[in-house]
Amino acid sequence: MARLKVPISGATIAGPAPALWLAKYGADVTVVERWPELRTGGQLVDLRGVSREALRRMGVDTQVRAEREGNFGLSFLDGQGRTKGALRADQFGGDGPVAEIEILRGTLSRVLHDQSRDRVDHRFGDRITSTRDAGTRVNVEFASAPAESFDVVVGADGLHSELRETLFGPESNHLHHLGTYISFWTARDHIGLQDWTVAYNEPGRTIGMRSILGNTKAMAFFSFRAGQPSYDWRDTDAQMRIVKAHASGMGWEAAALLSQLDTAPDSYFDTCSQVRLPKWSAGRIGLPGDAAYSASPLSGHGATIAKVGAYVLAGELAGTRSTPAVDRDLHA
Ligand SMILES: Cc1cc2nc3c(=O)[nH]c(=O)nc-3n(C[C@H](O)[C@H](O)[C@H](O)COP(=O)(O)OP(=O)(O)OC[C@H]3O[C@@H](n4cnc5c(N)ncnc54)[C@H](O)[C@@H]3O)c2cc1C
Repeated sequence: MARLKVPISGATIAGPAPALWLAKYGADVTVVERWPELRTGGQLVDLRGVSREALRRMGVDTQVRAEREGNFGLSFLDGQGRTKGALRADQFGGDGPVAEIEILRGTLSRVLHDQSRDRVDHRFGDRITSTRDAGTRVNVEFASAPAESFDVVVGADGLHSELRETLFGPESNHLHHLGTYISFWTARDHIGLQDWTVAYNEPGRTIGMRSILGNTKAMAFFSFRAGQPSYDWRDTDAQMRIVKAHASGMGWEAAALLSQLDTAPDSYFDTCSQVRLPKWSAGRIGLPGDAAYSASPLSGHGATIAKVGAYVLAGELAGTRSTPAVDRDLHA
């Protein structure tokens, strides 16, 4: 029987996860990522419950544990840096608001990518520009690579998915803004945190930092409440201007953190939005992860449900072909 041939758009979490599974099942997989390289940046991802099991089945749990970040808890500070309240990671059995196992989003992405890189063709700096479902095949055009035909297409291209737009129309129909924006950037840890997070609130806005990479750096974060977005999500300069304008005049260590925004090696900004779709596939094109069902960063479960959805999708696709070479019990 011919090998299942699949392109996957997006190389963060919901892309590499099915790529790994489908490659294990003998499929011919190409991951196409808009960015010229694997994207770093972004916050720490909590690994809870079923997510840990998905990682174990993917064979990356040992590496993830080795690369996890220390995290003992979170303190809320006042403008003078005095603690007003705290939560410890060991409260609520390690599955509370502060999770026991956390890994940088970019690290998790790299671990998943490394696990599949020998078996999957990766094309960075390219994107799918059109798909035509011809019944038994999908004809796909790319921005750079020549057009090809595939059995199925997977759209793991995130909150602002272009593939979703081609299937279900403009994102304004499906993106539900929850009234909050978030930003993360890597910064110096100028206050000497030890496996800890601190946050300072003013009405409608929060700024803070968390130690990362063995307490050698900090991940700064800022969130604020505001109405519907009116910027281009691809325009990172505009996003940084928005962050600075909304954080302007904040107390505590805000000025020190914001002064590093322009020179940070990575930064992330987006709305906290949910994606609500009537279904997660159309014909031979399926959408796992944020593209189909973003629960928003406020949920703390984006990476978990992306991984689990990718696992289910890959299992269902693998079930359409004979896959004798692999341990199908992994997908039982
Ligand atoms: C750089 C970055 C930082 C992030 N930081 C945070 C954070 O701090 N907090 C948080 O809650 N969530 C963050 N997220 C979102 C988080 O990763 C997701 O909620 C979750 O992990 C689900 O992942 P996903 O793979 O479905 O989507 P995403 O992580 O959004 O990945 C989508 C991928 O598709 C790529 N892509 C987009 N359009 C195209 C296209 N047309 N063709 C090919 N590739 C395309 C993107 O470059 C990206 O690599 C971040 C995402 C990125 C990309």
